[in-house]
Amino acid sequence: MSKKTKAIMIGAGLANMAAAVYFIQEGHWNGENITFYSLDDHGSNDGADTSTLADEYWNKNHPLSNRKGYLARGGRMLNYRTYVDLMDLLGRVQSVTEPGMTAAEDTHDFDAKHPTFDKARLMQGARGIIDGGKMGFNNQDRLLLTKLIMMPDSEEQKLDNVSIADYFKDDPHMFQTNFWYMWETTFAFRTKSSAQELRRYMHQMIYEFTQIEHLVGVNRTRYNQYESIMLPIITYLKDQGVKIVLNRRVTDWEFKDSALQDEITVTGLKMTNVETGAEEHVAVDDDTAVIFTNGSITDSTTFGDYDTPVVENMDYGAASSLWKKATEHFYNLGNPDKFFADRDASEWVSFTLTTKDHLLLNEITRITTQVPGNALNSFLSTTPITPLGQEDVNMSIVVHHQPHFTDQKPNEAVIWGYFLYPRRRGEFVDKPYIEMTGKEMLTELIGQLSKVDPGPVNIITKKDAIYDSVVNCIPVYMPYASALFNNRAKTDRPEVIPDHSTNLAFTGEFVDQPYQMIFTEQSAVRSGEIAAYHFAGVPMSRLVKTPRYDKDIPTLMRATKKMFE
Ligand SMILES: Cc1cc2nc3c(=O)[nH]c(=O)nc-3n(C[C@H](O)[C@H](O)[C@H](O)COP(=O)(O)OP(=O)(O)OC[C@H]3O[C@@H](n4cnc5c(N)ncnc54)[C@H](O)[C@@H]3O)c2cc1C
Repeated sequence: MSKKTKAIMIGAGLANMAAAVYFIQEGHWNGENITFYSLDDHGSNDGADTSTLADEYWNKNHPLSNRKGYLARGGRMLNYRTYVDLMDLLGRVQSVTEPGMTAAEDTHDFDAKHPTFDKARLMQGARGIIDGGKMGFNNQDRLLLTKLIMMPDSEEQKLDNVSIADYFKDDPHMFQTNFWYMWETTFAFRTKSSAQELRRYMHQMIYEFTQIEHLVGVNRTRYNQYESIMLPIITYLKDQGVKIVLNRRVTDWEFKDSALQDEITVTGLKMTNVETGAEEHVAVDDDTAVIFTNGSITDSTTFGDYDTPVVENMDYGAASSLWKKATEHFYNLGNPDKFFADRDASEWVSFTLTTKDHLLLNEITRITTQVPGNALNSFLSTTPITPLGQEDVNMSIVVHHQPHFTDQKPNEAVIWGYFLYPRRRGEFVDKPYIEMTGKEMLTELIGQLSKVDPGPVNIITKKDAIYDSVVNCIPVYMPYASALFNNRAKTDRPEVIPDHSTNLAFTGEFVDQPYQMIFTEQSAVRSGEIAAYHFAGVPMSRLVKTPRYDKDIPTLMRATKKMFE
C-alpha cells in the first residue's frame, strides 16, 4: 500500500517544497503532517544579504572579512513554454512582494513589462558584438545535431556513457561555432557533459533553438529567485502548519529487513544538528513517506569576498553522501560517483558584485547597447584556451534588472557573473579564476569589457572609479554546479519511485524522469509533484501535461531552417 498520510522531507529545496504543496492541495493533507529536515531553506535557489548567507553550513569555516552587499550563487532564467509544472506551482501560492497576485501572476506581470531581448549575447575582442544569429555550422555539425534531434526517446540508451566530446569526436569544428558558445554558456554544458542530456535539451528546448541569440524565450522573475520563488512557497507552507527544521544534516538510514533484500522501506533516519553537533534520531512509521532530494549542485559551496579568494571544500555533499549510503543497501538506486567524483567535469565559479552607484552598470549598458535586466553576455577569448587548442568563452555576466533584492539601497546595483572553467587562467590577472579575489574577478570583467568597448572613452580609463564604487564582490566556488550534466548511463540515477519502494521517493536533479531535462526549476518541481501524487494516491493522469514541441512539425521546420543560417 503506497498511500501515506504523513511525510518527512530530506532537503528543503524547490523539489521537496513543491511536493509539500501538492500533498496539501491535491492530496488534501494537513500541513502539520509534513516535516522538513535540511541544512537550509533554499538549496540552490538562494539570494540574500551576504551577511545572512556567509555563516551557513558549507561556509562556516571560511570567515569573510567583508560581509556587505548581496549574494546569489546563480541567476535564474525560466521558460514558460516548457516550465509548465513550475508555473502551475507558482500559481498555487501568493507573491510576497506583490499584494493580490499569485507568484505566477507576479512573474508574468514583471516579465511582460520587461521582455528579454539580448543584443550582445556574444562579444569578442576586436570584433565587438558578434551576430550570434549565424550559428556557424558546417554540414558535419548539421548532420550530427539532426541525428540527435531525430533520435526517439526509446533509443536514448544508445547515448549511455557518451560524452558530448565523444559524440562530436570527428567534428571538433562544432566547438568553434556560435551555437556551441551560446549553448554552453546559456545552459552550462561542458564538452565532458552527457550527450544523452544534450539530446534531451535539444528536444525540450527545440522551440528556443531558433531564437537563442536573443534569448527571447527566457522569462525572468521580478526579484532574485529566493524572494520571487522560494519565499512565496515557504510562507504558504508555514501558514499551513508545515514544520521546517533547519541546520540538520541527515547522515544515515535505517531500512526494514526483508527476505529478498530488495524492498525499500525506511524505518528511521540519523541526523546531526550542525549548530550544536548533537546526534539525533527520527523514527519513520508505516504511515510516513520519505521524500529525499538525493543531490544538490550547491552542496559544498564556499564563498570568498572582495579581498579573499574561496577555499575549496572537499566534502562530497550532504545530499550525495546520503544517496551513496542508500546505494550501499540497494542496487537500483544509481551511482552517485558518476556525478560527484569528477569535479573537473562539474565545477564552476560565480561571483555577485554589488556597487553603490550605476557607474559600471551604465558602462556595460553603453558597451552592450542594452538596458539591464534582459541579457546574458559572454566574452569569447581571442586566443586558443581549450585542450583542443580552440577559442572558447572566458566569462559570462548577467546584469539584473535593478533592484534585484527588495532591500537594495537606491542606486545600488547587483551584477552576477560566472567562469565555466575555473582552472583556466585569467587574461588580466595571471592566475586561475578559482584563486582570484572578488576584486581580481572584477578586474577580469573590466578587462573583457575594455576589449569590446566601442569607445570613444574606454572603460579601462574609469577603472579606479569603478573600484571605488564597489560595496563587495563575492566569489563562489561550486564544485558540483554542472554535476547533473556529468556523463552517465540512464541507470545511474534512480527513478522518482524506484521499484520495490514502499515509502521512499527521490526528487530533484539527480533522478531519471522520462523526457525532462535537468538543471531546471521545471524538472525539480515535476519530481516533487510525482512523489506527492504517488504517496497521496492522486492519479498520475492529473499531473500537469507536458508539451512536446519536439513532435511539432512547424517547430522542427523552423529549427532546420535555423541550422542553415
Ligand atoms: C548557479 C545556478 C544557476 C542556475 N540557473 C538556473 C536557471 O537559469 N534556470 C533554471 O531553471 N534553473 C537554474 N538552476 C537550477 C535550479 O536552481 C535547480 O534546478 C533547483 O533549485 C533544484 O532544486 P532541488 O530542490 O532539486 O535541489 P536544491 O535546490 O539543491 O535543494 C536541495 C537541498 O536539500 C538539501 N539536502 C539534501 N540532502 C540533505 C541531507 N542529507 N541533509 C541535509 N540537507 C540535505 C541540500 O543540501 C539542498 O540544500 C541554477 C542553479 C544554480 C546553482
